[in-house]
Amino acid sequence: MSGTNRLENYFDNAATTPLDARVREAMLPWLGEQCGNAHSLHAWGMQAREAVERARQYIADQFATPPEQVFFTSGATEANNWALQHATNLAVSPFEHSSVWAPAEAKGATVLANEGYKCMAAPAGTDMQAVMVVGNETGAVLSAPSLRGWTHRDATQALGKVPIDLISGDSWSCSAHKLGGPKGVGALVVTGNVALAPWMVGGGQEMGLRAGTLNVPGIVGFATALRLAKQDYEARTAHVRSLRAAFAEAVAGMPDSFIHEHDRQSPWILTWVAAGIEGETLVLEADARGFAIGAGAACSAHSNEPSRTLVALGWPPEHLRSAVRISFGPQNTVESVRALAAVLKEAVNRLRG
Ligand code: PMP
Repeated sequence: MSGTNRLENYFDNAATTPLDARVREAMLPWLGEQCGNAHSLHAWGMQAREAVERARQYIADQFATPPEQVFFTSGATEANNWALQHATNLAVSPFEHSSVWAPAEAKGATVLANEGYKCMAAPAGTDMQAVMVVGNETGAVLSAPSLRGWTHRDATQALGKVPIDLISGDSWSCSAHKLGGPKGVGALVVTGNVALAPWMVGGGQEMGLRAGTLNVPGIVGFATALRLAKQDYEARTAHVRSLRAAFAEAVAGMPDSFIHEHDRQSPWILTWVAAGIEGETLVLEADARGFAIGAGAACSAHSNEPSRTLVALGWPPEHLRSAVRISFGPQNTVESVRALAAVLKEAVNRLRG
């Protein structure tokens, strides 16, 4: 790591985002004097409970569902694991995050056939399907095929960033730290005619289904981050689109390189390929110059396997390891995008040299 760790050079916002200063402000009392357990009877407890219920109501409203259908969790991994435990005959898209993939593998799930990003209908007898809303690797916006059963949708990369088609799912996973909120808090939200079974038992929190003392500061931060994402939606969308355009312009004309895009694309995530150069090498080259990007296409940063997503899309072997993921946030600037593009171009030219 060199450079000064400047936040405008942080382009791995699909992995996690910096905590928005306004979110931190909203959280601070709940990390200090407002110390109550949301299930205690005294004033401290009541105030914490009211803050949690305000947050729950706000999140419920975004999903047009009653507040009793919002279940706070430690994040999207937990929400995905919880949802999937209800499946007997599970089908999943080939694009899912590992927190869907791992439980799906344990259940012997079917992988939905696909044509490009379009998933085909699940086999007869499927009682649950999981199809994420926005792919975390490439930012493609996905549709779920219709199913007589439970459709679970991982909305982690979508919430507050792209419109969500609420009739396309029965349950939704989300996570605060992808939108300027704190790490370690998220929710499983139910909008369809499905009932959750208990996930953690103990003190009866979360409608008796997910026991454990509530993460009051985290929950307040989550709702605040979502409120800001909604409030700033137009401006943020325009901003990330301009960052995207600046990158495209800066790398235009580079030989053997391309930006991979779906026709329904989240503007927040950009996949770039410089053929013949390993994505991980570019991550390290960028890091050495003070920039953070992801080799998002490497199915996980610590795995040698090529990305399932890119394999499912039918990418040729020579491109599979060459994708990098550049994911934007409000803190990035057009200048920082141009500087990143210059670093990547220089590295690619040198390595190809
Ligand atoms: N699903 C998707 C699509 C994600 O991008 C992530 C985060 N990488 C997760 C789930 C896991 O979320 P969390 O970090 O809140 O467990």
